[in-house]
Amino acid sequence: MTVRLGSIQNIAAKKNYDTSYLKPMDKPVSEYFNQYVFGPEAKKKYLAIDVYEKFENCIENDIALDSDTADMIAIGLKNWAIDHGVTHYTHWFQPLTGKTSEKHDTFFKFDKHWQAIEMLSGLELIVQEPDGSSFPSGGLRSTHNARSYTIWDPKSPIFIRRGKYGKTLCVPAILISYSGESLDMKAPLLKSMSLLNKSAVGVCKYFDENINKVIPTLGWEQEYFVVDESLFNARPDLILCGRTLYGNASARGQQLEDHYFASIPERVYNFIIDFEQEALRLGIPIKTRHNEVAPNQFECAPHFEYANIAADHNLLLMDKIDRVAKRHGLRVLMHEKPFNGLNGSGKHNNWSMSTNTGVNLLEPGDNPETNLMFMTFFINSIYAVYKHADLLRASIANAGNEHRLGANEAPPAIISVFTGDNVQKVLDAFKNGVEYVDDSIQVNSGLEHLLVPFQKLHTTDRNRTSPFPFTGNKFEFRAVGSSVNVSNPMTILNIIAADTLSEFKNKVDSLISKGKEKETAIKNTLIEMLKECEPIIFNGDNYSEEWVQEAERRGLPNLKTTPIALNEMIKEHNIEFLAKTGVFSRDEIISRYNVAILEYIHKLEIEAVLVDEIAQTMIIPSVVSYQNELIKNVQGLKEIGLIAEAEAHKNQLIKISNHLEGMIKHLNELEIERKAASQKSVDGEKAEHFSTKVKPLFDIIRSHADKLELMVDDKYWQLPKYRELLFLH
Ligand code: ADP
Ligand code: MG
Repeated sequence: MTVRLGSIQNIAAKKNYDTSYLKPMDKPVSEYFNQYVFGPEAKKKYLAIDVYEKFENCIENDIALDSDTADMIAIGLKNWAIDHGVTHYTHWFQPLTGKTSEKHDTFFKFDKHWQAIEMLSGLELIVQEPDGSSFPSGGLRSTHNARSYTIWDPKSPIFIRRGKYGKTLCVPAILISYSGESLDMKAPLLKSMSLLNKSAVGVCKYFDENINKVIPTLGWEQEYFVVDESLFNARPDLILCGRTLYGNASARGQQLEDHYFASIPERVYNFIIDFEQEALRLGIPIKTRHNEVAPNQFECAPHFEYANIAADHNLLLMDKIDRVAKRHGLRVLMHEKPFNGLNGSGKHNNWSMSTNTGVNLLEPGDNPETNLMFMTFFINSIYAVYKHADLLRASIANAGNEHRLGANEAPPAIISVFTGDNVQKVLDAFKNGVEYVDDSIQVNSGLEHLLVPFQKLHTTDRNRTSPFPFTGNKFEFRAVGSSVNVSNPMTILNIIAADTLSEFKNKVDSLISKGKEKETAIKNTLIEMLKECEPIIFNGDNYSEEWVQEAERRGLPNLKTTPIALNEMIKEHNIEFLAKTGVFSRDEIISRYNVAILEYIHKLEIEAVLVDEIAQTMIIPSVVSYQNELIKNVQGLKEIGLIAEAEAHKNQLIKISNHLEGMIKHLNELEIERKAASQKSVDGEKAEHFSTKVKPLFDIIRSHADKLELMVDDKYWQLPKYRELLFLH
């Protein structure tokens, strides 16, 4: 029996699920939310009041802690952790791999009398020294000058990671090199947030003197697939690449449109409840769960938070989901496109800006047309996307997203903004200096007894095809891939918004200094900006071929592949722009490009090797076994005189042999092109070769294999089929 058929039996027998962690969700969430976080309650209990206040002051007002206070915090923190049964601590940080990193140390030490005690000093809390050369640095670090530091970031809550047999205190940190360059995703995000704060506060002062802080908010929506573990284990491509390199479409896929928001299957429901409880205890304010469009695809979303905390929480959740799934005999696929021909997975990044006065700067209110503060931030955001669509596109470029963008309900590689009809009317009236007439449709259910709580339709409709739609009171950056650390796209978004806002302020101030009245200066500047950035606004169907042509006419970049998109980062005007903002140095930008392009090369190289290996060791042997059976059959038919029947079976044999031949021929070509790619000395060229010469061969080889899957006896086929991966749980 093939591993595949054994796996199917396993599922039916429901083997190997460890649900001992799973507790009924029967308590109000507020009772256990933040249980494993050194949050306000724990801080108050374990820290002296003056220490607590200095800690809060550091977080809220960006004032560094002094070393005595750090020592006191370390003592309180250690006591809190030990009361929770924690034995180890670690800095928890976000290197350029896109994942998180940690190195555990125990609290246990010897005092001067060689007595065992538990200790954590302020210095240990603040700084650790991992070997920087083992993390991707894009050329910034080499093995012979490897020193790097992780530095505690007090703005992110400290938390406890629970395992079945041990607990670890996780201290969020940034990673920098010996000479101070950042080697992680967190430091640039924090820098971009303070840049945006400065620019946005400057602009807010036109409207409200009390605003002295603006923080970008982020609410991500995480899409993922769930697959049974035994089927997963029988697919080397899922294990090593996170996506299927082979697999014919299942007769039933998503065409019945019956999965989105459908009732969640029991086994997956248990798994979701399990990880949600863990997430809530870790202070991740998870709120929404639902089935997504493709079979076995799901989504979860939290309440939005400050962008840096939201980024931490997303990474933590991805890690949790992965671990908890294993307890349920399931595997989670976070890849952007695990299955051909079905929806991919994104991570929609809902982004806005919030003030210390509690205002959401992208909230239009009931009368957006007279809400000049909203119009200012709204138009500035659109303008920023227009000016820097290339950088925004580069910020979401990776090997996985390349398969997703522009296919099956995913936004295309062309960046544009959706405003929605109503808001567009407000913008048009604003631009033309005419009065806005509100002709929005009244919501009418057609049923007298229903209470409809709002009179007007939402200020925007939805547009699932747009990479950057305005969705009522925030922008939703939908083109971000499901597997990534959101910090990079958020950093770029914050930077471009900050830069646009400060440019806007310069223009307005200059008009005011020339005697223009403030409101007129603001309006005139906004109208000018709106006219300039209008080409980026597109409210139609982003999937259509007409849009591709229209976008080209409008001069919008269409950066289709990852190497092409990443190359934008290192164009001189972009390096100059990014370096000017101070968030990145020139070297840091180039190093990040190097890391991203290398990751692309490595991923494609792994896929190329695996396409070949799976073909040679799993597909071709199955086909040959079946071929031999057919050959015997044809010979047998001939022997007993059934010549016409033998001919029909021979034709089947020929079809199979042709596909086999096609496969082998292109596998040989694949090997040649893969080697040719590897021999290129410049990474950009290597990536280009993989993208244009190697990758297209995957599709050709696959198309032969997928046809063979439909012809070969099921009992020989070794790779679990799409219908099994998508419908068995
Ligand atoms: P949908 O799938 O319909 O777009 P969801 O409810 O799944 O909506 O997700 C909406 C996301 O938008 C949530 O994560 C929510 O917290 C987030 N969000 C709402 N308001 C803001 C805001 N002001 N800033 C950032 N994110 C926001
Ligand atoms: Mg959603």
